[in-house]
Amino acid sequence: MTDTMTPEQRHRCMSHIKGKGTKPEMKVRRWLWSHGYRYRLNVKSVPGKPDIVLRPYRTALFVNGCFWHGHHIRMSECGDALIREDVENSACCKIPSTNREFWVSKIRRNQERDLRNYSVLQENGWQVIVIWECQLKRSKIEQTMLRVEQLINSNLISIYQKPPVPYSSSEENPMQIAAEDNS
Ligand SMILES: [Zn+2]
Repeated sequence: MTDTMTPEQRHRCMSHIKGKGTKPEMKVRRWLWSHGYRYRLNVKSVPGKPDIVLRPYRTALFVNGCFWHGHHIRMSECGDALIREDVENSACCKIPSTNREFWVSKIRRNQERDLRNYSVLQENGWQVIVIWECQLKRSKIEQTMLRVEQLINSNLISIYQKPPVPYSSSEENPMQIAAEDNS
């Protein structure tokens, strides 16, 4: 296979692989930052490889490109027998007609991996929020992010509303009594 990339293209490609963030992801990050949210990226200790992690809110964000993640593309259940007629384009994901089978199976694999990532996070008690590229257009970003903000904060509230872990010791704990007196 011949390498047809210019050094600039290769650099862009490599920096993308290293996880510098896509353009839609940058929009989300900028919005969060300017609204006072502090986040982490590429957190190894969090399962499912989310794009953005808001640890105090136990919330993981994925910013999905509409093409690569097949926004509104419904894959049929027929597995390997999948043929081009089975999959219709959506408004924001137009699968090329050339090499269509290749693209369909690529997008399908991405979707399957996404679902695996979301469920491993949810099983570990994380709230998963998926933001689509098309929801970040200039006319839509504010509405989208306000909704995201709502979800982030409601998760924080639910974390604090969890019942306290009961203290178990045969000895009395003066700190605990003091805390109870204050309430
Ligand atoms: Zn979309």
